[in-house]
Amino acid sequence: MLAEAQKKLHQVFGYPAFRGGQGKVVASLLQGHDTLAIMPTGAGKSLCYQLPALLVDGITLVVSPLISLMKDQVDALLAHGIAATFINSSLKAAELRERLAGIENGRYKLVYVSPERLQAENFLEIARRVQVSLIAVDEAHCVSQWGHDFRPSYRKIPLFLAKLPRRPVVGAFTATATPEVKEDIIKLLHLQKPHVIVTGFDRKNLSFSVLREVDKDEFLLSYLTAHKKQSGIVYAATRDDVEKIALFLQENGLACGRYHAGMRKAERTASQEAFLRDEPPVMVATNAFGMGIDKANVRFVIHYSIPQNLEAYYQEAGRAGRDGETAECILLFHPRDKIVQQYLIEQTVYSSRRLRHELAKLQQVVDYCHTAKCLRRTLLDYFGDEEGGEGCGNCSNCRGEGEVLDVTVEAQKILSCVYRLQGRFGAAMVAQVLKGAGTKRIRRLRLDSVSTYGIMAEKSIAEIRDLIGFLIAEGCLRLTEGKYPLLKLGRNAAAVLKGQIKVLRPSGGGIVQEERYGRPG
Ligand code: ADP
Ligand code: ZN
Repeated sequence: MLAEAQKKLHQVFGYPAFRGGQGKVVASLLQGHDTLAIMPTGAGKSLCYQLPALLVDGITLVVSPLISLMKDQVDALLAHGIAATFINSSLKAAELRERLAGIENGRYKLVYVSPERLQAENFLEIARRVQVSLIAVDEAHCVSQWGHDFRPSYRKIPLFLAKLPRRPVVGAFTATATPEVKEDIIKLLHLQKPHVIVTGFDRKNLSFSVLREVDKDEFLLSYLTAHKKQSGIVYAATRDDVEKIALFLQENGLACGRYHAGMRKAERTASQEAFLRDEPPVMVATNAFGMGIDKANVRFVIHYSIPQNLEAYYQEAGRAGRDGETAECILLFHPRDKIVQQYLIEQTVYSSRRLRHELAKLQQVVDYCHTAKCLRRTLLDYFGDEEGGEGCGNCSNCRGEGEVLDVTVEAQKILSCVYRLQGRFGAAMVAQVLKGAGTKRIRRLRLDSVSTYGIMAEKSIAEIRDLIGFLIAEGCLRLTEGKYPLLKLGRNAAAVLKGQIKVLRPSGGGIVQEERYGRPG
């Protein structure tokens, strides 16, 4: 069957080979498995159902949310000589009748429909009379409320399937690789023992770095000075930050554009167009910038502070290196960033379930900033893309800038303190106790009499906080969910406290990077 698929790939579509995981998806569908394919935009999802559609008897229904895209897709198929059509509300009555009759007479291999159409009685009648072998649900994330394009009618797809005399194989396709959306698709589309294939997320030409505890302004200045002619985007968390950063750079003789939702529309458009012409080549922006922008030569994306979740990070960072040439994605982290984002999330999220969920996703970004593992692997694991090796050799952790430090003793001190405080306090308080800070609150709560008070006096609060962040990322500590997270012992804490495992940490972070980029001359 797969040999046959290869042949059609050349003959009908004119492609020399499958791309990425296309072959796997096609094979899975042809073997009759429900299949969830998660592939980034542009990876070639359409082919994954169009090709099987030609190799199975009967017709393939493609559920597509966008009327405008249906026509384009069908036109492209017709150009390849494939019998395809679409049914949606844009059709006049006579045309609709004609096409429905065509479906019944077996005139088409592929039929594109809107999800709403599946509920129409006359459509269902015809679908029951013909052989529907495969149903491809495009943009399947629309079934999930976690996504941004929730379409209630997607939830009714299983009802349609249940009314068919024989259940077709179901393929679901999306570019949204978040764990909760994936689970929703499987559950809400009633996929049966689906093969889940996540593929194509690795962007090998991008190098990832995290810098913690650097002076962000100084870093920006030195980086932009060293990369003067290059195009890049600096993402900031708030409009205020954008204004401040842009002003700061301009005062230091570095030209940059700015973009945020507080600017007038005309101003935003002008700014965006200037950036596309590289006049100037650097843009300072909030996450309002980037939708639908396809600038090929972006050489770096610097996040001045953390975004709200890893998918936003990957999407924004992914605007670098579209031309396939090497590009850098650098994330600057300061513990304060989390508080800013938490505040922003609280301003926009009202349901408490959703809030907990969003805060947990924010914590995953903080963990990303502290992990000792390969950054690329961490991102791909998050999305569930198993391809690529363990270490990429091209991220700030893999490059192993600096030696590996044994922080077992520090870890034990911190864990004992959390243990003594019985997990009743947050990270800030734990750090203060370890430092031996003499605040009123500490005295009032008598935390200065705890045995671990001041046992890390030689370190700064910032250093202790940084270590705590690392221990959370490594599963030695964990934060409870909610607005005021408490610091608790994590699953690996016991082994560390008993001295059964060593805690090793690459000394990446600020110091080494600062040497690497140098100061502006
Ligand atoms: P997606 O839906 O995943 O965003 P598309 O299905 O629109 O992506 O495909 C993106 C582009 O890749 C299209 O122009 C398509 O013709 C092309 N393409 C798909 N598969 C292949 C392949 N195996 N070889 C070469 N080009 C391909
Ligand atoms: Zn790596």
